[in-house]
Amino acid sequence: MNEIDPRTSAARSCPICGKPVDPEFKPFCSKRCADIDLNRWLSGVYAVPAKEDEDEDGERPAESEAGET
Ligand SMILES: [Zn+2]
Repeated sequence: MNEIDPRTSAARSCPICGKPVDPEFKPFCSKRCADIDLNRWLSGVYAVPAKEDEDEDGERPAESEAGET
């Protein structure tokens, strides 16, 4: 018997950012946080190269801001 049951601690706060959990993205507050956790988990457990999908999220990692002149 586990004392720490994830089901009983579901209605808490997001482990990523601490915001209230959204039932739709339990145990996280949003899909973003769920993705963050998933990425952490994947990169931590499986050392597989993450293939970057062209997900048009509108956000790109700013490698260098020396583009506007
Ligand atoms: Zn969150």
